[in-house]
This record gives sequence, C-alpha cells and structure tokens, in this order.
Amino acid sequence: MKEKLVDSLKNLISGEVTAEKEFLDFYSLDSSAYSKRPRLIVFPKSTDDVKKTIRFAKKRKIPICARGGSTGLVGSSLTTGIILDMKNFNKIKLSKKHVIVGAGVSKGELDLILKRNKKFLGPNPSVGAFCKIGGMVANNSSGSRSLKYGSVIDNLLEIILVDGNGTEITLPKNKTISKKIAKISNETDHLYPHVTKNSAGYRLDVVTENNSQKIIAGSESTLGIIVQAKLRIFDIPKKRQLTVVGFNRLEDALYLVPYILRLNPSSLEFVDETVIKNIPHKFKDKPKCLLMIEFDANVSKSQKNLDSLIHKFSIIFTSSKKTDVEKWWSYRDSALFFTLKNIPKNQLVPHVIEDATVPPENLKYLVTFLKKITKKYRLKFVVYGHAGNGNLHIRLISNSKRNLNKLHKEFFSFVISLDGTISGEHGDGIARTKYLKLQYSPHLLQKFQYIKKQFDPSGILNPGNII
Ligand SMILES: Cc1cc2nc3c(=O)[nH]c(=O)nc-3n(C[C@H](O)[C@H](O)[C@H](O)COP(=O)(O)OP(=O)(O)OC[C@H]3O[C@@H](n4cnc5c(N)ncnc54)[C@H](O)[C@@H]3O)c2cc1C
Repeated sequence: MKEKLVDSLKNLISGEVTAEKEFLDFYSLDSSAYSKRPRLIVFPKSTDDVKKTIRFAKKRKIPICARGGSTGLVGSSLTTGIILDMKNFNKIKLSKKHVIVGAGVSKGELDLILKRNKKFLGPNPSVGAFCKIGGMVANNSSGSRSLKYGSVIDNLLEIILVDGNGTEITLPKNKTISKKIAKISNETDHLYPHVTKNSAGYRLDVVTENNSQKIIAGSESTLGIIVQAKLRIFDIPKKRQLTVVGFNRLEDALYLVPYILRLNPSSLEFVDETVIKNIPHKFKDKPKCLLMIEFDANVSKSQKNLDSLIHKFSIIFTSSKKTDVEKWWSYRDSALFFTLKNIPKNQLVPHVIEDATVPPENLKYLVTFLKKITKKYRLKFVVYGHAGNGNLHIRLISNSKRNLNKLHKEFFSFVISLDGTISGEHGDGIARTKYLKLQYSPHLLQKFQYIKKQFDPSGILNPGNII
C-alpha cells in the first residue's frame, strides 16, 4: 500500500518521495514533547511539485503539512499524513530594505548573507541558525530584539503559498482573496488581547486588504504551504550597549520593566536563577534574577537615564564592546538549553503554559500568580523570557503529571484576565489548540473557521492545529 502511494507520487513530481523507516522515524519527532508517525516524506523541487502533492493528498484525503528546521515546540509540524520538507526552496534575493527568501532557507544561512551586507532580520528566535524561514513565518517567530524590530508578522511584506486546493497564491497581490480576508478582519480588533506579541490563532486583528499576507504568519501549515516570503530587513546599528542588572526578587525586576520601557530599549530580557547558575561569570551577590537591557540608538542619553533608574541594584555588566555583548546574548539564548539540562528527565513536564504574554505592567501579577499556582499543585518552575514584550517562558518541574490540565486552564484564564495571550511566540499546535476557546470568543472562532474554509475547503492542511 505504502509502496503504491510512493510510486504514484514519484510519477507525478520531480522531487524525492520516501516512506523508508529511517525517514519516517526522523520526521515522527520535532522539538516538542509529542510524536506522530507520517506516511510519506516529500522533498519538492518546485512550486509545481508542491501543487501536485497537495492535489494528490486532497484526492486521497491524506493530511499534509510542511517541515522546516523541526525546532517548533508545540508539535505543529507532526502529522500522520504527508510531510513536505521544503529544503530545496533555498534561494535568497537581497535588496536594500527587504529580502526575498525561499521557505527552506535556514535562519543561519540568511544571517550570514545579511551580516556581510551590514543588515539583519528583526525576529531572532533563540534557537538561532537552525530554524527555517517557512517555519519562522508559519510560527510567527520572534526573539530578544522583537521589542524594537517586531515579530515575523510585523516584517512580512509578501508571501507566496500553495493553498489546500493546490493553487498558488501571492498575498497581498491577489486582490480577490485580500478583499475577502480584509472584510472578515474588520471589527475584530477588540476581540484580541492588547499585547505586542501574539501567536495564538489567526491574526485577523492586523490584516487589511493591503496587508493580507499577515494572515499566514502563525498559521502553522493550516492555510497553505509557504514557498517564498519577502521580509523587511534593517541596517546593523553602529553601537549596541548592553547592561545586565541583578535582583534579589523576581517581582523587583518585573516591577521595573514598564519604567525601563519608557527609555525605548532595543531589547529587555529576563532570566531566573536556574539560567544564572549556568552562566560562566563570577556573580558577587548571588542574584535571583537578571534583567538584560540593550540600547542601539541614542545610546549615551538612554544609558544615562537607565543608570539613574537602576543605581540601587547590582550592575553586573555594562559595555558596548561587541564581543562581550555577543557573549552575554549567547548566555540568554542558551536559557532553554540550560533549563532542560537542569531538569531530570522524569521531572520534565510537556511545554504547554510556556510562552504566555501580557501587557508588561501586568508581569508582576503574572509571576505572583505563577508562584501561587505552582505551590497549589506542588510543582517547581523555571522562568525567563522577553520581559519587554511581557512574554514569559515557563518550564514546569514535577514528578507527577496529575492535575496538569487543571493547572493549564487556571493559568491561561488568569493570563487572559490580564489582557494577555496564551501564546506570544510558539503558537498553538498540539499543545495549545484546545485552549484557544478560552482565549477567543465563539464569534471569533467562527471567523477562524471561515478563513480556514477559504484556503483549505477539504481540511487536509495540518488538521487539528488552530482549528
Ligand atoms: C531552543 C529553542 C529556542 C527557541 N527560541 C525561540 C524564540 O526565541 N522565539 C520564537 O519565536 N521561537 C523559538 N523557538 C521555537 C521555534 O524554534 C521557532 O518558532 C522556529 O521559527 C520554528 O522554525 P522551524 O523551521 O524549526 O519550524 P518547524 O518546527 O519545522 O515547523 C514549525 C511550524 O511551521 C510549519 N511550517 C514549516 N515550514 C513551513 C512552510 N514552508 N509552509 C507552511 N508551514 C510551514 C510547520 O508545519 C509547523 O506548523 C525555539 C525553539 C527551540 C528548540
């Protein structure tokens, strides 16, 4: 049966098709806690291959999704059907203010080319070089500099994708579709949380007729397979000054966040003592957490203002020396690695409440609640994240997996009561799709269904995710 499927598809397309055990094993996993065994792995060589494969899947009602670098944390790149590995879509075309990139280009490859041209891409997930452009767009990725430079959704200028009918679409160029999406998006603003980052559900709140491409950011293979994206790029700033400040209480650090934000930092990050323990630096006062604050414009003036805000606390590092600044950022980027290294395997809890985002002035309430709820359910936690965006990454530690569902629901309800989102970065996938009904009204969820039908009437594109 499998051989028949492989042969039929091989006859249709020029790219490779396989159902060999080793490939199926490899693609059964991503960086989440979940696994699903696919039936076929396809490496399309052209948009035509993608179209034909989707039509092939549609005819046979086989679920299909794309795979980038497999670094997603919510299981949204797993399927029991066909996986399209987009690695052959590897072209890069650089202009002054934007770059046109194939879905299969890795972030590392793109960064090298941009750096040579003194440019950079705003969204910089900590996983760094390993993720791919298609995955970044489909996840609406962001990172430590998204505070100033935005998430993918803020930088996505145009997209080419193939929808669930096997039709190629360019947005916002396709006016018929753009008008339809814009019509649905009208008056959805008030139905979304007021946060600077949101990867939960479809982002109808930012879609207009001239910006209809944004609907694809964070769509997790459910609306189409991305073949190419046009993304805004920036000039590398002449100077970046980083200051690292230590605090004895999480609340003290988070209380300060809204005040620091008034100084317009390019980045404002937060790590707790688990991450600190792994940083190869001799800390004098054993801080319980750190804030990392970076300025890349009006540096002297901003730094002076910052100094007067933080003088009571312990200044651990401050410099604009490139190598030192990069070294400290590499510590921050290793936060998840440091965290997982410190949690015994049998105490790992699947990442579900792991990237909630609230208005930054509400961060202190969120951390107080986190302490309360983990005490109630007898778990420990590690916390770090993009404090400037109000985005906290939480890793729970426990021997028992009992009551997790209750904890998730209580935590998410609290996040929503703070005008927050249950996912500011990593999306919905297997981990969070079922909690979207807490986040959004039935009215908005109906609009999501409508959008899905427009792009994928047969429901073959990554079913079970978002919808
Ligand atoms: C250590 C670590 C740190 C991380 N740090 C961050 C962070 O700071 N910020 C952040 O935002 N995320 C972070 N992530 C999450 C994740 O790495 C990013 O979201 C990343 O951009 C996903 O890209 P990928 O290519 O690996 O996607 P994959 O994992 O391969 O796929 C992710 C989703 O995108 C879809 N997809 C992939 N390619 C396409 C395509 N061509 N067309 C349509 N859909 C497609 C998949 O179907 C899936 O739904 C981190 C992950 C790890 C493991």
